[in-house]
Amino acid sequence: MSSKKDSSNSNFYKEPGPKLSAESPFESMMERFRFAAEILKLDEGMFQYLASPVKQIIVSIPVVMDNGNIEVFEGYRVIHDNVLGPSKGGLRFAPDVNLEEVKALASWMTWKCAVVNVPFGGAKGGVRCNPKELSMTELERLTRRYTAAMLEVFGPNKDIPAPDMNTNEQVMAWIMDTYSMNAQRTETAVVTGKPIILGGSQGRKEATGRGVVTVTLAALNKMGIMPNKTKVVVQGFGNVGSVSAQLMYEQGAKIIAVSDISGGYYNENGLDIPKMITYVKNNNNSLEGFKEAEKISNEQLLELECDVLIPAAKEDQINRTNAHKIRAKIIAEGANGPVTANADSILEQNGVMVIPDILANAGGVTVSYFEWVQDRQGYFWTEERVNRRLNRMMRNAFDNLYQVSEEYSITLRQAAYVYAINRVATTLKLRGIYA
Ligand code: NAD
Repeated sequence: MSSKKDSSNSNFYKEPGPKLSAESPFESMMERFRFAAEILKLDEGMFQYLASPVKQIIVSIPVVMDNGNIEVFEGYRVIHDNVLGPSKGGLRFAPDVNLEEVKALASWMTWKCAVVNVPFGGAKGGVRCNPKELSMTELERLTRRYTAAMLEVFGPNKDIPAPDMNTNEQVMAWIMDTYSMNAQRTETAVVTGKPIILGGSQGRKEATGRGVVTVTLAALNKMGIMPNKTKVVVQGFGNVGSVSAQLMYEQGAKIIAVSDISGGYYNENGLDIPKMITYVKNNNNSLEGFKEAEKISNEQLLELECDVLIPAAKEDQINRTNAHKIRAKIIAEGANGPVTANADSILEQNGVMVIPDILANAGGVTVSYFEWVQDRQGYFWTEERVNRRLNRMMRNAFDNLYQVSEEYSITLRQAAYVYAINRVATTLKLRGIYA
């Protein structure tokens, strides 16, 4: 990589970052980061700084398996940035976890925290393993040994993990306990996403869906559309999708279609969302067999005419092959990376407002921040207080991005990156580079 400064040639915007496939969510994120850097006219040094992680740790994790054999797993933690405060980001257990992916996800967290104005930098962790093949006791030993390897990295004022793919409240409780045993004091603020009885926050489970709905209502308001006059489509009916559907339903919106891995369920007169949530709870977390709707495919669902489309399942759902068929006025990205960079310009040309993931699904990290604050205060808030403060922070973040999008005549997504990068770069300039 060239270290020569050459602002007449913006090639340096193209170099850093992981080498990933063209339509991957991470490559899409890097493309958006480069675009925002150009708008902000970041100089090469600042660009390199913001594109490079602060710290990358790889550890070997030996675990005595239930059969007495030793197996060694590889674990990662990447701190992308800690300019705004301690770094924050999830920990995932999956067979395909690798350093490049963790690096990309860590930088994603930096921009997400900056967009909603929580005082955290970005981080991510992972262990390459197949959690489906591990017993609970093996999972516990793996988690504790990974935590032991990260004792110098984690800390309430340093780096704070949270749940991600295949990790949950129990895994967070083991991390908290292992860290606390070594520190010889109970240190609840070292992780978030804990069980409520162990210092978790009220409202954390619903926070992401609630945040999606807050920014959706703000967008509808800008368009002069009443929530109770809207038709809504939701892809994915897990944590984020079902809460988003329920809260839009409570606003009087007509939810005309939802889907999960079993397919799409459509009713032009509106679905009974509370009934579907109960159905899923009693049906192994699946909508399979739900009768009071017409069955459609996930592809058809995305192309339905509606006011709001909430993709809340997985990445790359709206891409260059189907973007021109989208007939929603607003897309609120509940999932991470559901719209590819290639689809962005098609949607923009067609006048679709996209509320980007780093804003739309940041309700989760915002309530994680509240959990950390409550743990440090030793004083716990009511759910009503959590929800009120979450709504306020999400609403403020939406208004900030909307203002930036108008100021530069750019999309909300571009505004999100411009806002976040500008915030980190401005803070860094004030702090200066320690030498
Ligand atoms: P989840 O596992 O609870 O639910 C996922 C849902 O998507 C399930 O209903 C599943 O059946 C469905 N699904 C899977 N593949 C599908 C497909 N091909 N078509 C249609 N539906 C499909 O997960 P979640 O926690 O709700 O997360 C959903 C997305 O939101 C992910 O991208 C996640 O990274 C992102 N996200 C979640 C949180 C959070 O707090 N849970 C926070 C930020 C971002």
